Amino acid sequence: MVILPESARAVILAHVRAGWPREACGLLSGRDGADGTVWIEIAHPTPNVAAGGRPDRFEVDPAARIALMKGLRGGPSRVIGHFHSHPGHAAAPSETDRRAAFEADLIWLIVALRGPDDADPVATAWAVEGPVGENGAAGFRPLRLRTDATA
Ligand SMILES: [Zn+2]
Repeated sequence: MVILPESARAVILAHVRAGWPREACGLLSGRDGADGTVWIEIAHPTPNVAAGGRPDRFEVDPAARIALMKGLRGGPSRVIGHFHSHPGHAAAPSETDRRAAFEADLIWLIVALRGPDDADPVATAWAVEGPVGENGAAGFRPLRLRTDATA
């Protein structure tokens, strides 16, 4: 199960709506729970540096990731995953996502936007499922996602 605080959800939705009609992305920091639960704490919007200018691609800015990892060093939280939007598409991993899934310890959060003003987009969470090879992972496993209104 993945717990998403309402505060982080609001940050993610604002960022992906602003990115419409292009995919928007960012990083998630949080903690691993004892029972396998993943607790997202903070969503960190990042630039989408995907090359080629296609609207349906994303790549988290590596510099943003390094900066976040430095900021978290020595603390209890880690880079626990990332998020990106699917403007006009379902909240399921695409074939491109599959080929880009190399890190088994990161969760993927995908937000399907029906439009720039989508009031209640569908969000899903996924674990990378091995074996992770040269062309990415064999697949994704859906995770239960719960929004925590108290956080
Ligand atoms: Zn995708």
